[in-house]
Amino acid sequence: YDDRDGKIWMDGALTDWRAANVHILTHAMHYASSVFEGERAYGGKIFKSREHSERLRYSAQCLDFEVPYTVEELEAAKQEVLAANGLSDGYVRAVAWRGAGEDMGVASRRNPVCVAIAAWEWGAYYGDAKMKGAKLDIAKWKRPSPETAPSHAKAAGLYMICTMSKHEAEAKGCSDAMMFDYRGYIAEATGANIFFVKDGEVHTPKPDCFLNGLTRQTVIGLLEDRQVKVNERHIMPEELESFEQCWLTGTAAEVTPVGQIGDYSFEVGALAREMVTSYEALVRA
Ligand code: PMP
Repeated sequence: YDDRDGKIWMDGALTDWRAANVHILTHAMHYASSVFEGERAYGGKIFKSREHSERLRYSAQCLDFEVPYTVEELEAAKQEVLAANGLSDGYVRAVAWRGAGEDMGVASRRNPVCVAIAAWEWGAYYGDAKMKGAKLDIAKWKRPSPETAPSHAKAAGLYMICTMSKHEAEAKGCSDAMMFDYRGYIAEATGANIFFVKDGEVHTPKPDCFLNGLTRQTVIGLLEDRQVKVNERHIMPEELESFEQCWLTGTAAEVTPVGQIGDYSFEVGALAREMVTSYEALVRA
């Protein structure tokens, strides 16, 4: 991703893609003082753009730093990046982090906060799983308690166990891993929220120790529009056997049906397919 043409917005101005670098003594690189957003533009318009900008600022506050740009400035910067790269459909990555400066210890009050925004084309996150249903592994790592980590922030440090879980899943021929939380309840995938269907009702884990994804909230709205009952609750692993359908939601994943989790199988059923198409229609509306 580093050696190509294009423009990346960095600290207030567009810079050449290849020149968008940071110093090796960047605080974030040593201590994970970094937060980010993943967004998608459809037909030139970023879906839930303001909400993403607000979440970026919120995540930084959770990590005790301030993004030095307003929501309006971030909005303008994202549009500038899409235009500069000639993208109307694409993935937008905003990242804010504690940079290099006077502090090289754990504390970092004097280092500047840096912000960058890049955008590129990114097709279906789980490839052809949208039609067939993705295959998920069960991760051995558990989502941490909100007392252990700022679990509602979209913070880089929370992804350490996600990368490890996803690598292990891919080594077994799966697309992703489903993770339990610190109590043993079903939580989410490594970069997407999870939904289940049973007897015409939807069940989804209560987001009390992981990201309440914007796509998750959008899909709950779509279900409620259709008078489908959505149960947000703690879900035990033993319940997997009783669920008929399953799907993942996320900005990158959009709505992706799941066909298998470990030894449990699910049908790519009517409601799962309806959520795929309704979400696709909504983001382009
Ligand atoms: N959980 C995790 C761990 C994620 O990385 C993401 C993607 N941002 C989500 C859930 C879904 O969030 P959203 O729908 O806001 O993209």
